[in-house]
Amino acid sequence: MERRLCCVGVDIGATNIRAGVVDDAGQILGEARRLALAEAGLRAAIGRAIEAIREAVQNAGLSIADIRAIGAGVPGAHRSRDGICVYSPNFADSRGVPVLPPIRDAFALPAFMLNDVAVQTLGEHRFGAGKGYSHMVMIALGTGIGGGAIIDGELRIGPTEGFAEVGHMTIEPEGPFCGCGNRGCWEALAGRDAIIQRAIAKMQTARQTGIAESVDYRLGSITPALISTMAEDGDAVAIEVLTETGNYLGIGISNLIQLYNPEILVVGGGIAQAGPRLFEPIMRTVRTRALMVPASTCRIVPSRLADDAGIIGAAVLASEELARTQSQPSSAASSRLPSDGPQA
Ligand SMILES: [Zn+2]
Repeated sequence: MERRLCCVGVDIGATNIRAGVVDDAGQILGEARRLALAEAGLRAAIGRAIEAIREAVQNAGLSIADIRAIGAGVPGAHRSRDGICVYSPNFADSRGVPVLPPIRDAFALPAFMLNDVAVQTLGEHRFGAGKGYSHMVMIALGTGIGGGAIIDGELRIGPTEGFAEVGHMTIEPEGPFCGCGNRGCWEALAGRDAIIQRAIAKMQTARQTGIAESVDYRLGSITPALISTMAEDGDAVAIEVLTETGNYLGIGISNLIQLYNPEILVVGGGIAQAGPRLFEPIMRTVRTRALMVPASTCRIVPSRLADDAGIIGAAVLASEELARTQSQPSSAASSRLPSDGPQA
């Protein structure tokens, strides 16, 4: 009997690194975590990811001999086929850093990678909220807004792995400046910092709110999760922040529905768990703005796998890419990862 049943997925975030052993049913059999310590650079984070992979395999009661392949999700832009990070802005030193070669060397196993949100999209599609749908879009709300798209059941990557890079579409021409250099980008209006700034701006007009008190007046400690909790408790300012954020999210989601015509749009990231206070304004905006492709044709739902989407998706990537390379070992054509085609 084939012993190697599992793949390992590793989610290399700028804050936390999580590795998990995942079986073919999408169940996590064992996991381990490390702090990413992004200021020490991506190379060091890969070292800690290797430790986490080793520990996750132990925690699952398995040995490396039981593992078929390893998949990794890493924020930023990559040449995934080569296993190289092109640039990951949240890590101090990331340009040209080899991601997969040290992992392959450490375990003598095949390893695969993609951008973190692409990997989460794969996880949500195979085992989460998008299971059973052929056309799915995922957005991940965090520091920025990432996106991923499944078309005809397949994850799409694009020739330079920029498919569904949705956070930098312009939503407001004269809007706030974005880290990318443009202004009015979607993530500059509905990303983490925008949500926090919206709350602070309201507090500065002496509005009555419990937000400042709940962080002992250290405004740097305000998080979207806190705002979401305060909104649940009925705090008027927090509710307003979620309503305005939901409106901006709804504008971007309307654009995505008209662009991709998805059957389901999955919203991931911590704030996605905020519930109706966020989803009602999203739905209201989408109903009024997505008209050519009516919003009623697309379900808009929170992520089901939540924090586990990254490791489950990375393990799915490993399993599926391994199967592709084994079925056509001499041809690169079967891989979803872009090859070095003609360049402009
Ligand atoms: Zn931008």
